Amino acid sequence: MNANAATSPKIKVTALPGDGIGPEVMAATIRILDAAGAPIDWEYAEAGAEAFKKGIVTGVPRETLDSISRNKLALKSPLETPVGFGGKSANVTMRKYFELYANIRPVRELPGITTPFSGRGIDMVIVRENVEDVYAGIEHMQTTTVAQCLKLMTAPGCERIIRAAYGLAQAEERKKVTVATKANIMKLTEGMMKRMGEKVAPEFPDIKPEHIIIDNCAHQLVIKPEAFDVIVTSNMNGDIISDLAAGLVGGLGIAPSSNLGDHAAMFEAVHGSAPDIAGKGLANPTALLSAAIMLLRHIAAFDVAEKVEQALFITLAEGKNLTGDLAPRGHGVGTAAFTDQVIANLGRFSAMKSRTYNKFELKTWPELTAHTEPTTRELVGIDVFLETDLGSEELGKTLEAIAQDSPFTLSGISNRGVQVYPPTGGFTFLVDHFACRFMFKNPISLTDSTSSGQPEISYLVQRLGAKFTWMHIEKLQRFDGKDAFERPQGA
Ligand code: NAP
Repeated sequence: MNANAATSPKIKVTALPGDGIGPEVMAATIRILDAAGAPIDWEYAEAGAEAFKKGIVTGVPRETLDSISRNKLALKSPLETPVGFGGKSANVTMRKYFELYANIRPVRELPGITTPFSGRGIDMVIVRENVEDVYAGIEHMQTTTVAQCLKLMTAPGCERIIRAAYGLAQAEERKKVTVATKANIMKLTEGMMKRMGEKVAPEFPDIKPEHIIIDNCAHQLVIKPEAFDVIVTSNMNGDIISDLAAGLVGGLGIAPSSNLGDHAAMFEAVHGSAPDIAGKGLANPTALLSAAIMLLRHIAAFDVAEKVEQALFITLAEGKNLTGDLAPRGHGVGTAAFTDQVIANLGRFSAMKSRTYNKFELKTWPELTAHTEPTTRELVGIDVFLETDLGSEELGKTLEAIAQDSPFTLSGISNRGVQVYPPTGGFTFLVDHFACRFMFKNPISLTDSTSSGQPEISYLVQRLGAKFTWMHIEKLQRFDGKDAFERPQGA
């Protein structure tokens, strides 16, 4: 579907000029978009340093959240994250507030930007899950020597990001979706992403599905980056490989991204506020302009998007009036002259063609608490995490004695995920944090019995608590006959 921009009604977009070089690259981008006839009405809003200075700890004033909620679209310049005092990241505030779960990072070789990979035809998109995984920031000190971070991945979280990747592949007429995970080690969390990839793929028979282990993905990105088309991955993996991939085509300074969710879409440059060059009129607006091109395609203004993209491509290819970060030493111009050059090139076409794009819409998810009840559910044991400076042998004997006349048997003890009791002969460095696995002598069906296992667990925990400090307990369940927990290494 191709929209004719000149006759389209104008669409309201919240513009966040941001901090440092932000206002300069925003002004340049809007000047180019206006000159190209983009069907956009800009609604300016504040976020970042100014908001922090006013004491707004989230960095995002209420009026800004309201503006984005109304418009559902935002173009955002870099925002400073305060270092050393209480304020949070305004970027993270908005990402979480609007549940912008899909981070889209196109990585395409640009004309005139020479890298060790030039000429390879790199043209891929990285789709990163943006709100789950270890970046949820659920962390607890377990003892004074042991820190814990929870890696939460969910079935709907995996499904929606995999669907976003396939939807985007369809919209951009791409041929392959590579699910990149660490499922070989984290079989339940990363494995869920891999399995979801396998479940969703058959719905898209024209797109080749592929799975790759994330470390090999990093390797292949350097060895043969041109082989990738769409890569979809979890939050932390995506954070790392999307920056790696940006480096292949010229670095973060020219990389755009979008953050999509059911309630809003936010388009931004990947670079920060570059305070060292702020206010000097030297900043390169390419990244924010490229993000604005993504925004134009998102609102189906395909003709204007292509017009602006081609003007940018030809400006970079011809190398006339480039900013200092791209021009040969001593030949750089300021933001305004670069912007004028792009505007002068509107209507011209570069040898590098724009891709074909079609309207891309995320599947919307129902507003309810996601829950799927298994057909059968059994409680088979508990892991009790406790603090002690005892050695594993002594701890094992003590716990066996505690469990002896209880409904449980001690099946093993692990330290940082490695079995240390019964001993395996391995050489594990011990810290004061042991996972002690107690299995029910008679597993309890939670599906068709009235028993909850609660009194048995309380009995054991009380006896353990009389001798040890325990931090947390994990129930070991079996859903539909399948263990819903992993075995420790070496067990
Ligand atoms: P940065 O702002 O990206 O700057 C690093 C360097 O890259 C700059 O000093 C400048 O190098 C160059 N650079 C970046 N963008 C450029 C542009 N458009 N044109 C020309 N040169 C550019 O990274 P940072 O110094 O780590 O972060 C600064 C602040 O930005 C921090 O407060 C950080 O939290 C924030 N930040 C925000 C976002 C966001 O809002 N999405 C992202 C990253 C960082 P030269 O020295 O060569 O001039």
